[in-house]
Amino acid sequence: MYIVKTVPDLQKIISSKHKYNGSIGFVPTMGALHEGHLALVKEAARNNQISVASIFVNPAQFNNAEDLSKYPRTEEEDIDKLSRTDVDILFLPEAGEIYPKEGFEMPAFKLDHLIQKLEGERRPGHFEGVVKVIYRFLDMVRPTDLYMGLKDFQQQLIVGTILEQMGSSVRLNTLPTTREENGLAMSSRNVRLSTEAREKAGVIYNCLKEIRVGAKEGRYTKEKENAFAALTYAGYEVEYIEWVDAKTLEPVDSIGRPSVILLAVWVDEVRLIDNILV
Ligand code: AMP
Repeated sequence: MYIVKTVPDLQKIISSKHKYNGSIGFVPTMGALHEGHLALVKEAARNNQISVASIFVNPAQFNNAEDLSKYPRTEEEDIDKLSRTDVDILFLPEAGEIYPKEGFEMPAFKLDHLIQKLEGERRPGHFEGVVKVIYRFLDMVRPTDLYMGLKDFQQQLIVGTILEQMGSSVRLNTLPTTREENGLAMSSRNVRLSTEAREKAGVIYNCLKEIRVGAKEGRYTKEKENAFAALTYAGYEVEYIEWVDAKTLEPVDSIGRPSVILLAVWVDEVRLIDNILV
């Protein structure tokens, strides 16, 4: 595995390995890697001529300075984990590489309808930061295939939308959420949970599954109330639970088109998000 920090170094290695028409799979991450990240990396390595993973804790997508300063950074362990996969290149850019002093041009995407809901409403500026960094990475890595997790449902929807608006041929491959045995969605932030909260966290996915059954059987509101009660009882503060159309993120109240139930909860001052497709 090559480790590179600059775009010229990255491009040098890619062009030395790249054969005509070969695919380039890319997995952007913020590090503190877990099995969910590694599943994306392995999929990219398996299905592409060249695979690239990046680690960059993107300041632009943190709406909360404390969340940024507390974001786990485990570079050595991450390098070790990646070197045990078949990924070809680890791109470890500095902030100046991503956000040059002279700035960069970006098309004016039409994303208000997706950005201002759910996570975007509660984390102002978050998706604007995600869009910026993904746009830069697409330009720097020039992948044919991008790998992202369904765990961040709204994020992958927004990235799919910017690819469409760019008329890009990059394929977005969205992979299912990797979970702990008890159902807790893996997340870099989970290391900040107490042992107790981590053990009880299975309740989150159980609630999502129950609400989905309720949604399918016309008992959504009742199951949502039950979930609020169960989560509160387990010590979680519920920020939101919403059932929305999987393309428009508009609220839905009956089945019939692809939809998704999403939630955000707080425990131990850590914010956790999860979702389930209906
Ligand atoms: P992050 O490091 O949190 O920015 O995540 C990097 C990529 O990994 C994003 O596409 C996430 O959606 C994805 N990801 C994070 N956690 C999981 C998970 N538990 N299962 C699958 N993909 C995940």
